[in-house]
Amino acid sequence: MGSNSINIQAILDAEGVRSKLVTPIPKDGLTDLMRSIILKEAKEEPFYVLDLGVVMSRMETWAHSLPMIQPFYAVKCNPHSAMIGAMAALGASFDCASRAEIESVLSLGISPKRIAYANPCKAESHIRYAASVGVDLTTFDSIDEVKKIRKWHPNTALLLRVKAPDDEGARCPLGAKYGALDEEIEPLLQAAHDTGLTVSGVSFHIGSGATESIPYRVAIKAAKSAFETAARLGLPKMHVLNIGGGFTTETFDEAALTIKAGLVDYFSDVPDLTVIAEPGRFFAESAFTLATTIIGKRVRGGGLREYFINDGVYGSMNCILYDHATVTCTPLATSSNREYPKSEEEVRYGSTVFGPTCDALDTILTGYLLPELEVNDWLVFPNMGAYTAAAGSSFNGFKTSEILTYLAYSSPY
Ligand code: PLP
Repeated sequence: MGSNSINIQAILDAEGVRSKLVTPIPKDGLTDLMRSIILKEAKEEPFYVLDLGVVMSRMETWAHSLPMIQPFYAVKCNPHSAMIGAMAALGASFDCASRAEIESVLSLGISPKRIAYANPCKAESHIRYAASVGVDLTTFDSIDEVKKIRKWHPNTALLLRVKAPDDEGARCPLGAKYGALDEEIEPLLQAAHDTGLTVSGVSFHIGSGATESIPYRVAIKAAKSAFETAARLGLPKMHVLNIGGGFTTETFDEAALTIKAGLVDYFSDVPDLTVIAEPGRFFAESAFTLATTIIGKRVRGGGLREYFINDGVYGSMNCILYDHATVTCTPLATSSNREYPKSEEEVRYGSTVFGPTCDALDTILTGYLLPELEVNDWLVFPNMGAYTAAAGSSFNGFKTSEILTYLAYSSPY
């Protein structure tokens, strides 16, 4: 893996990086930094702060616990150019799902050799593009994909995506859509071989936001069985295992132990094995903090407070619907520099927080305890880096893609 520091200037200098400024996080922390951005820069627009120190310490945790596994950062999780640039600077490779994601990685000067096109079902034009720019590793799980790849990118290495049992507690199970079934593995391997393609190994994904580590072990065992099928068929020896994503802050340590034990138990007899992974959430989630402005307020019977803010479920908080996330927020000082809470005893009211669009579905929080807030106060949402802005829309004219990201850097030590 690469160096353990980020050259922030290089990230900013890279063509196509969309970010406003680099500022060290002051001693008193992120809250003070956000307050100063609000006072000096942000007026009333929502904004993100990307703390590169968090990304760096995540990479160190990864390298410490899984040094033998190269992370291919899943761009879909948060494709912000500064996030991609930071991961590149730290030595990661990249998992791209489409032509546009490949383009955004390449536009930062990153080699196509560091990209896996890890979408088992690709449009033909996207496969052609991958071939034209030298992205030479992809996944498949159907005969039709074999045919398309044979036609447009016969020299790419292939990984057979197998259907590992999903972690039942995963936030986003993926098994209903992807992965060869047990009985499909042999015919798929044979078909790929017969058309002259090279299957280098196997990939799986136990589900995004996994809560258990055992599914990694079950999936590693299933992957080994696919390796054995290839050997039985007399196909060229497979040597790549892609263990997908699914890692969270809470589960990472246990998952790493389970994966290491699984590799020893099932793959010790494959000495030239290359193991890769496609983590997204683990690196991005807690690195991004979102600040929003209260643009409207209504007090209803029973003391209920209702607030309207300028980002919502059609924007960054789409994670509530698509990623099954529960968001949290804290109030922040206003331009008049008011502090919240004024004291621990300050009365808190059951509050509803709505997004800005004219749809009642655009409801972010209900029954959430907040002190009395006013229009132009700010609400700050932590842990907003994974599957947030990436899937936001411009519904009602609120353009998620235009939310600015400020780069900051807290020391990971
Ligand atoms: N790889 C693939 C193919 C995925 O579909 C996903 C998420 O959907 C990921 C990697 C990233 O997963 P996570 O963010 O849970 O690490």
